[in-house]
This record gives sequence, structure tokens and C-alpha cells, in this order.
Amino acid sequence: MRRVSIFGATGSIGENTVDLIERAPEEYRIVALSGGRNVKRLAEQAISLGAEVAVTCFPEKKEELAGHLSGSGVEVAAGPEAIEEAASRPADWVMSAIVGAAGLPPGLRALEQGATLALANKESLVCAGQLLMGTAKAHGAEVLPVDSEHSAVAQALVGEDLSAVERVILTASGGAFRDWPLEDLARATPEQASSHPNWDMGQRITVDSASMFNKSLEVIETREFFGFEPRQIEVVVHPQSMIHALVGFNDGALMAHVGPPDMRHAIGYALHHPERRSLPVERLDLVKIGRFDFREPCEARWPALRLARHVMEIRGLAGAAFNAAKEQALDAFLAREIRFTDMASVVEAVLEAMERDGALKCDRMCLDAVTEANHVARKRASELAAHVAMNA
Ligand code: NAD
Ligand code: MG
Repeated sequence: MRRVSIFGATGSIGENTVDLIERAPEEYRIVALSGGRNVKRLAEQAISLGAEVAVTCFPEKKEELAGHLSGSGVEVAAGPEAIEEAASRPADWVMSAIVGAAGLPPGLRALEQGATLALANKESLVCAGQLLMGTAKAHGAEVLPVDSEHSAVAQALVGEDLSAVERVILTASGGAFRDWPLEDLARATPEQASSHPNWDMGQRITVDSASMFNKSLEVIETREFFGFEPRQIEVVVHPQSMIHALVGFNDGALMAHVGPPDMRHAIGYALHHPERRSLPVERLDLVKIGRFDFREPCEARWPALRLARHVMEIRGLAGAAFNAAKEQALDAFLAREIRFTDMASVVEAVLEAMERDGALKCDRMCLDAVTEANHVARKRASELAAHVAMNA
């Protein structure tokens, strides 16, 4: 039996992972499950999968979780340190599906004990790619991408020589505001930004899809995970979200990964790697789909893409600052303190200020430096957002 832990089990990726595991429970022994406020669902999952420990990231929710789990034999824990402790428990396969930079410490702990890390939490790579990939290497552990685009690229690269790759093309649906008139974007509400044309995902990544901050994170993720040069990484708008990514080789061939917008494909690929197994996802009817469209991403609509290029030039702690400022700006937008279009301006101003202060430089990346950059960027973003809100 394979020992499995799922961090962020109650989220959209977590639930899809649980769905796949529940189809073959005899193959897995569940070590740890983590969640947030929805402790009732976390307890249900822990009982139905027979988990060793269930952890909520909120200490104030511990008692409620314990109530739901009383008599079940499942151990109860709470708080970020407890999540790290749970990630240190020996497991063979660990799903990293917490949203945001909070996913980094448990991901590192899992790699330190040699587990295969199925990485949905792209923020870990953006904040600390060198550290995460370095930790995997030092402990002989494997990282498998779960982001659909990166899973697609990894699949297109099987059996290929990396030196024959000319370029990687990530597709982007364009999110909720792809076809909105530019001048309306400033009035977009959190509700409007939270509906995705093709994918059913957590709220934060859905809003990040509308702003293309999600694609910006993914461009950086591509650089950190595969080591491609920034100039090799392209983005194209593809409204149908059926082609997840393409890899271009030096003989002119483009290998495209095509599939339905269902994360259980990428999760299942990572779960069964290096085997391929049957998965419960829709089989595409190409004739019914009829056509695939592509468009160039418009810089004025999605300034986040330009910021990602700048982050890759600076490197060091720029990814950590970029992600943290984005998380804070997103919080401010969701709280209706700033406008949709203010998010990119806030993030750009934070990057500029921290670069000016020399706060993005880093010789050897460590968790403390990443945490500090994260903290400073959040603080600056929060001040800037408050300033923007006051002048609105
Ligand atoms: P979600 O909001 O649905 O779920 C997030 C999970 O993390 C929940 O279990 C929540 O309780 C937990 N969580 C939230 N804040 C936490 C904190 N501070 N500490 C510990 N746990 C916390 O998010 P999601 O859409 O499932 O996304 C999860 C990750 O996967 C993100 O990094 C996202 O970018 C990535 N991802 C998601 C999709 C998708 O289809 N949903 C696709 C590709 C990548
Ligand atoms: Mg993606």
C-alpha cells in the first residue's frame, strides 16, 4: 500500500485527489490530510479514508475538528506548525494543494523525508524555486507538476532531449474578462471575477485567471521547474482550454497536450506516474468541438504577464515578493478595497520599491529569506492598497 498525504484536502484540487483515491482505497494508506475552516468536510474525508491525522491550519478550529472526529481514532492537530509536522511523517506520495505561499513549508518537509511531491501549489515554485528543487535534489525526492499546463509539458517531454526544445507555449483561457471592453475592467466586481468560463477551481486562482496573475505565476513556474530560459516561454490565449500546453522542438514539431478541462487528469497522471492508468475524465469528441482558437494576449488587458518577465530578470527573491504582493492585492480586491485593475499597479509598485531597496537580492536562497521577503512585500502591498483605497 502506498502511503499518501494530502495538504489542502478540502479545496478544489484536494477534493479531486480524494475522488481518485476513493476509487481504489485498497491501494492507499492515508497518513495526513489538512484543511482550513471547513473542518466538517475535513473530518468526513479523514474518517472515510481512514487517515492517521487530520490538521486544520486554524488553531481556533481545533476543538470543532476534534468534536467531528471524536471516537474515530483519527489524531487531531491544528496550526501551521502542525501541518509541517504532519508533512514530516513518512509518506510515499504527497499532494501539495494548499493555496498560496503557505504551501511552501509543508512541501519542503515532504521532500526532506524523500516523498514524491505532487505539486499543485505553484506558489512554492514561484517563491522559492531554487530552494524547493534544491531540496528535492538533495534528498533524492521527485517533484511532479500538477498544474495542468506543466503536467502537459512534462508529458510532451517524455523521452525527449531537453536540448532539442526551442520553446514552450502555455495556453490561457483569458478568464472571466477575456472579452470585456478594456474600459470596464476597473469596475469589475469580485463576483464577476470569480466565475471561470471553463474550469471549476478555488476562488483565488479563478480571480488570478481573470487578471492573468495565474498565467504569470505559471510562466515563472515553467522557468523554475524545467529550467527553460524566459525567452523560450510563450503564452497564447486559447479560449476553449482544451490544449493545455505545447512544446516546440528544433525540427519544427509542436507537441500539444489535448484534454478536457478536468484536473483529475493531471492529478491522476502524477498519482500513477510513471504508469498511465485509466482515469474518469471525459473523452473529447473533436468533431463536436469543431475548432480550436488562439489569440495573442493583450498587454493592456493583462499587465501581470509583463511583470512576470521582470521577475524572471531579477530572480533572487523577486518571485517571493511578486507572489506575496499579489496575494495581498488579491485580498484587498476581494475585500472591495481596491479595483480589479489596481492589483497589478500595487504589485508593480512593491517590486519597484523592493528592488530599489536591494531587498530582492539573495545569494543562497533559504526559507528565512523567502519568509522575510514575503512579509515585507505583504506589508508594502497592504500600505499601498490602503493608499489607493483612500484616494479612490
Ligand atoms: P482552494 O481554495 O479550493 O483550496 C485550498 C486549500 O488550502 C483548502 O483545503 C484550504 O483549507 C487550504 N488552505 C487555505 N489557506 C491555507 C493556509 N494559509 N494554510 C494551510 N492551508 C490553507 O484552492 P485550489 O483551487 O484547490 O488550489 C490549490 C492550489 O492548487 C493553488 O496553489 C492553486 O494555484 C493550484 N492549482 C489549482 C488548480 C485548480 O483547478 N483548482 C489548477 C492548477 C493549480
Ligand atoms: Mg494551470
